[in-house]
Amino acid sequence: MVGSAIVRKLEADGHETIITRTSSELDLRNQEAVASFFDTERPDYVFLAAAKVGGILANNIYRAEFLYDNLMIEANIIHSAYKSGVTKLLFLGSSCIYPKMAEQPLKEEYLLSGFLEPTNEPYAIAKIAGIKLCEAYRSQYGANFISAMPTNLYGPNDNYNLQGSHVLPALIRKFHEAKINDQPTVEVWGTGSPRREFLHADDLADACVYLMNSYDGEQFVNIGTGEDVTIRELAEMVQKAVGYEGELRWDSSKPDGTPRKLMDVSRLHAMGWKHTTDLGDGIERTYQDFLANEVLYVE
Ligand code: GDP
Repeated sequence: MVGSAIVRKLEADGHETIITRTSSELDLRNQEAVASFFDTERPDYVFLAAAKVGGILANNIYRAEFLYDNLMIEANIIHSAYKSGVTKLLFLGSSCIYPKMAEQPLKEEYLLSGFLEPTNEPYAIAKIAGIKLCEAYRSQYGANFISAMPTNLYGPNDNYNLQGSHVLPALIRKFHEAKINDQPTVEVWGTGSPRREFLHADDLADACVYLMNSYDGEQFVNIGTGEDVTIRELAEMVQKAVGYEGELRWDSSKPDGTPRKLMDVSRLHAMGWKHTTDLGDGIERTYQDFLANEVLYVE
């Protein structure tokens, strides 16, 4: 989702030499394969968006994979980027790097100030390692490696597998299928009270290119909207966009996760960047994209 959004943005800006690899073409966990890719292709600018990602359930179940795969991907790419003399690299982290009970909104300086949310601790530890790799390669080798922490994302090419996905694509699929099949109720996880912030992938891509063009600092930068909604409010927005008229049933046996994850985006706003996609419009666009690509998204 993020990689394809960055490619769309770079193409729209007129960039012609964009090098990409799918995971089946290049296994980023393989040190030799990554080193050989960098030796051959010699990219100048690297957007490190690749990661093993998933929603609350997948993060909690596949704890070893979320830690191992992400550590390997980051270490291999960051080291090879340094070795091959990349001009600049942008590493993408996640808002889950912040402590579970951190003050809100989340300021960049709250990193490592408390315990992490247990359901996604392995992923968060890997992403914190990525930030620290960029900082260390900058301080020891003078590499221009920057990091950005996006909030929860949604948009084209999202993961619609209900066991692995995040909440927004899961709700689009659940409400859509319930509408088509005339189901009287849709099951939504948790209590509905957690608050989350959502950013469209195209806005994220725009911010990434903005930072690549204009920011060279050691401090990582939050990327978000600075606005959040409860999961209940989100569910009602998705329900409306899909046009489902049944009831919501809350399954409190499923975890809520962190009570709130709202980014403080004052640093990014002060640099002159702000999102443009309103959440309601973004959900409608994403539902249209889901309808157009349902065969691809739903196996
Ligand atoms: P998180 O931001 O890491 O907690 O990841 P998610 O996007 O997976 O979940 C966000 C919140 O939405 C949690 O409180 C979930 O319990 C809730 N939620 C409600 N329904 C669903 C669903 O169908 N799928 C997922 N993934 N989360 C859901």
